[in-house]
Amino acid sequence: MARYIDASCKLCRRERQKLFLKGTKCFTEKCPLERRNYPPGPHGQSRRQKVSEYGVQLREKQKIRRLYGLMETQFRNYFEKALSQTGKTGEILVKTLERRFDNVVYRLGFAASRKAARQLIRHGHFSVNSELCNVPSLLLNAGDVIQVNERSRKLDAIHSSMKRMKDNTMLPWLSLDKANLLGTFLQVPERADIPLPANEQLVVELYSK
Ligand code: ZN
Repeated sequence: MARYIDASCKLCRRERQKLFLKGTKCFTEKCPLERRNYPPGPHGQSRRQKVSEYGVQLREKQKIRRLYGLMETQFRNYFEKALSQTGKTGEILVKTLERRFDNVVYRLGFAASRKAARQLIRHGHFSVNSELCNVPSLLLNAGDVIQVNERSRKLDAIHSSMKRMKDNTMLPWLSLDKANLLGTFLQVPERADIPLPANEQLVVELYSK
């Protein structure tokens, strides 16, 4: 499957916001947004033109898509599925993206970024409900239990990521048993409980044109 392989933090510059796509890099001055707080490319520094309504919608869609690490086609598919369900399309979209296995591994603190989570999952380091699962896109359901596999419990990548997690910061819809490297997806979160600095309604407007 196609994936984005260019520099992660170039996207921070494009969205004018730290996206933490590469884990801790954005916390440091290595994130190029620190020194070059303007969009990448030859016109990055030219005087800003008035941004059209379309431009605003596009930027917001790109930001959400990149935060979850998806290519356009995959992202669009999630949107079309959300559209076919009853309810607020934007909310359904975000709630669905949050159910992805790679996102939950990241949210639980087992990986420093969604990208790192995806790789750890592909390499077979996790199980869901006691069965090995190497599919990052799997959508979790309420009550699903995620665990680091026995033979992977000493992985540095997992432990250095876990160290940054404070016990009191776990999201209300997840629970974490640090000692057993085990997390539970308690329920599909409400939109208000999802830490996503974005306005998904703009995605709905963009795709509805
Ligand atoms: Zn960055």
